[in-house]
Amino acid sequence: MIKLKGIGVSHGISIGKTYIVINRKIDLKKTSIESHEIENEIIRFNESTAKVMAELDLLIDNSALTDDDKNILTTHKFIIDDPEFENNINNLIKNELFSLEQAITKHFADTIKFFKNIDNQFYSQRAIDFKDVSERLLHNLLGLKNNFIDKLTPETILIMEEIQPSVILNIAQKKIRGLITENGSYTSHSSIIARSINLPTVVGVKGIIKLIENNQKIILDGDKGDIIISPDEETETIYQNMFKLQVLENEKLEKLIGITTQTKDGYRIDLLNNIEFPAEIESILKYKNDGVGLFRTEFLFLDRSDLPSEDEQFKIYLELAEKIFPQKMIIRTFDIGGDKLTQNVLFEEEKNPNLGCRGIRLSLKHIEVFKTQIKAILRATVKGNIKVMFPMISSVSELRKLKKIVKDCIVELEDKKINFDKNLKIGVMIEIPSAAILSDKIAAECDFFSVGTNDLTQYTLAVDRNSENISEYFNTFHPAVLKLIEMTVISAKNKNIPVSVCGEFASIQDAIPLLIGMGVDSLSISPSYSLQTKKIILSIEKDKSKKLVEEILELSTASEVQEKIHKWRKENEV
Ligand code: PEP
Ligand code: MG
Repeated sequence: MIKLKGIGVSHGISIGKTYIVINRKIDLKKTSIESHEIENEIIRFNESTAKVMAELDLLIDNSALTDDDKNILTTHKFIIDDPEFENNINNLIKNELFSLEQAITKHFADTIKFFKNIDNQFYSQRAIDFKDVSERLLHNLLGLKNNFIDKLTPETILIMEEIQPSVILNIAQKKIRGLITENGSYTSHSSIIARSINLPTVVGVKGIIKLIENNQKIILDGDKGDIIISPDEETETIYQNMFKLQVLENEKLEKLIGITTQTKDGYRIDLLNNIEFPAEIESILKYKNDGVGLFRTEFLFLDRSDLPSEDEQFKIYLELAEKIFPQKMIIRTFDIGGDKLTQNVLFEEEKNPNLGCRGIRLSLKHIEVFKTQIKAILRATVKGNIKVMFPMISSVSELRKLKKIVKDCIVELEDKKINFDKNLKIGVMIEIPSAAILSDKIAAECDFFSVGTNDLTQYTLAVDRNSENISEYFNTFHPAVLKLIEMTVISAKNKNIPVSVCGEFASIQDAIPLLIGMGVDSLSISPSYSLQTKKIILSIEKDKSKKLVEEILELSTASEVQEKIHKWRKENEV
C-alpha cells in the first residue's frame, strides 16, 4: 500500500482500477538524412499521405459529423492533394536532405506564416487548416494516435501527466470513476471541467506514474487530495464505508432541490451556475437554481479548428436561453488565452500567456470575431433573459471601446430590422486588480459586476493559477484579495448595480459566509457544487456574517483569516 498526496479538485471518493496514459509530444529527433535514404523518405511520404487520405475519407463518411465538419475535412484532403505540396516535400527531401518529418514541418510552418500574415480574417483562419493537416500527418508518421478513450471502462481511474480540457470532455462520455494527474491546479480549466462533469479528481500528484502499473487497485479522495495505491483490506473497508456515507449525504442534499436559496435571516441570494458546454444546462435544470451566471463561451472552440459562425453561435445561445427561461443567462464573451484554447489560430504563442493577449484584449485585436459573437448574442436576446459580460477588463477605456462596438452591432441589426432585446445589460468581470481598484468608475458605466476570483487571485498575488508547484501561494483568503473583493462590492452597492462572484472561491465552504457578509447578491458556481453551497447559505445569518467580515478585514494573514472563519463556523453551526 502506498499513500500519496495531491490537490483535491473535484469532490468524491472513488475506488477503481488504474489506467495510465503517457502524453507524448511530437518529437522530431530525425532532422536530416543521407542521400541513400532519399528514396525511402519519398516512399514513406507517399504511404503516409495515402493513409491520411483514407483516414479522412472514413471520417467524412461518418454520419455523426455535421456538413460543416465534412467540408473542413474535404478542404484538408485538397491540401494534401495539392501538387505544390508534393513538389515542395520532394524538393526538400531530394535537394536539402530533409527528413520527411522535418520537410512536412517546414512546409506547413511556411504556409501557416504566409496565411497568418494576410490581413483578412478568412485567410488568417485558413492557417488552422494547414496546422491540422500538418499535425495529422506527423501524428500518423510518429505513431502518436491516441486511442486510449476506447480502452476506458466504468471502473477506470485514469492517470495522466496532464490533461487538456477537450480530452476531459471525451472522457465524460465514458463515465469513468476518477482522474489523477501529475500536473494541474484547483483553478486550471481542466479542473473546472472535471468539477462540472462531477468526476472525482486529484491533481498535482508528482511521480505517481512511476509508482504504478495498469490495472492496479487505487482509491482517490477528491476532497482531501489523498491517493492510496493497492490499499490493504482494512483501508479499503474504511473508504468503502466513506463512499456509502457520501451516497447518503448526496441523497440528503437532493432534498434541497426546489427550496428557495436564502439566508437563515431571510436574505435572498441568487444561486447561479457556471457552464462551459451547452449540455451542462441539463444539470442546472435538475438543480432548479436561479440561472446561468457565467457561460464560458470560449469552450465552443474546443475540439475544433475553426471559429464558430454567427449562425452557429446564435442557435446555441438561443436554445440555451429558451431552455433556461424565465431564468437568466449571462454570456461571457470569448476569454481565449492563458491556458485556454491557445491552439487556435487567433492566438500567437507568447512567453507569458497569462499576461498576454487574453480575453477582451484578443477581442479588441480581432474585432470581427468579437462582432460576430455580439451579433449572435444580440439576435438570441429575444426572450429578454440574456445578459452579456466582458472578461479581463483592466480599464474604463477598454469598456468604452467594447460598448462602442456593441452599439455598432446594434445599428447593423436595426438596419436589417432584426429583433433583439433593447435593454440588453452589459456586465464586467472584475478579475484584474486594476479593475477592482477602479471599480467605482467602472460601476458607473456598466450594469453589473461579476468577480472572477480565480484570475483576481492570480494577478493580485502574482501566482500562476495553473501551476501545482506554487499552489500554496494561490490563496484567495489572502487579505489583499479579500480587500479587493470588498472594494468591488462596495462600488457596486454605491452605484446600485448587482454584484456576483463567479470564481471557484464562491463554492468554497469557508468563503461563502464571507461573500454573503460582504453583500454579494449572487454566487455562480459549478452545478455539481450547487446543493452543498445552498446548504451553507441556508445556515448563515447574514447580519452575523457582516460582523465576521468586519473582523476578518482587520487581519493580516490568510491563515489568520481561515482560522477565524473555522471558529466562526463552529460557533454558528454553519
Ligand atoms: C475567474 O477568473 O475567476 C473566472 C470565473 O473566469 P475563468 O476561470 O474562466 O478565467
Ligand atoms: Mg477569469
